Amino acid sequence: MKQYLEEKNFKQGFRKDVERLSKQKISNCYQCGKCSAGCPMAFKMDYPPTMTMRLIQLGLHDEVMGSNTAWYCVSCETCTTRCPREIDIAKVMDTLKIMAQAGKYEVSDTEIPIFDWIFLKSLQYTGKVYELGLIMTYNIISLNPFKDVFPLGLQMFLKGKIALFPHFINDPVAMWEHLEMFSKIHKKQKEKIRETNG
Ligand code: SF4
Ligand code: SF4
Repeated sequence: MKQYLEEKNFKQGFRKDVERLSKQKISNCYQCGKCSAGCPMAFKMDYPPTMTMRLIQLGLHDEVMGSNTAWYCVSCETCTTRCPREIDIAKVMDTLKIMAQAGKYEVSDTEIPIFDWIFLKSLQYTGKVYELGLIMTYNIISLNPFKDVFPLGLQMFLKGKIALFPHFINDPVAMWEHLEMFSKIHKKQKEKIRETNG
C-alpha cells in the first residue's frame, strides 16, 4: 500500500463523487472485512470489496477505476447484506461501472466490459442468453477465436449443454414487455452516465 500514499495519486473529491452517485456513505466503512469474506468473486478481483472501500475513502481513483473489481462483481448483494454499517456495496460496484462507462476512466482488463456488453445484448434480443453466439462473438471481438472452444466448448456442445440455435420468447406480448424493460434500463443508464459527467 505504501507506494499509493503519494499526494499526486489522490484525487480531491473522488470519494464524494462515488458517494453522491451511489448515495452510499462510504466514509462509514470501518474495514471489518465482512463484505470480502462473503464475496464469491473476491478471488478474481484486483482488490476485494473491503480494500476497494478503503481506496475510495483515500481518493485513490486510478487504483479503483483501473482495477477489474467492479467488473467481476455479479451483484449478488452478499456484501450489502453483511455490512454492519449498512453500506450498499453492490450499488457502489454498479456506480463504479457506470463511472467507467461514462468514459472518464480506463479499466485494466478491457475484455470484461466487452463480455458484459455482449451478454446483455444476447439477453436483450433473445430473452435468454444464447451461449454459442455469446462465445463466438466474444472470441471474435477479443481476437481470440478458439478461446475455450477445445476441448471444453466442444465437450459441452456434444453433451447438449450448448444449443446450436438461440431460444426466443414465443409469446409476442412477453417479448414486447421484455424489450420495454431493456429500453427502460438503457434510458436509466444514459441518465446515470449524464449525471456522472454532469
Ligand atoms: S455484490 Fe459483488 S462485491 Fe458484493 S459480494 Fe456479490 S460479487 Fe462480491
Ligand atoms: S462490511 Fe461494510 S464496514 Fe465492513 S469492510 Fe465491508 S463495507 Fe466496510
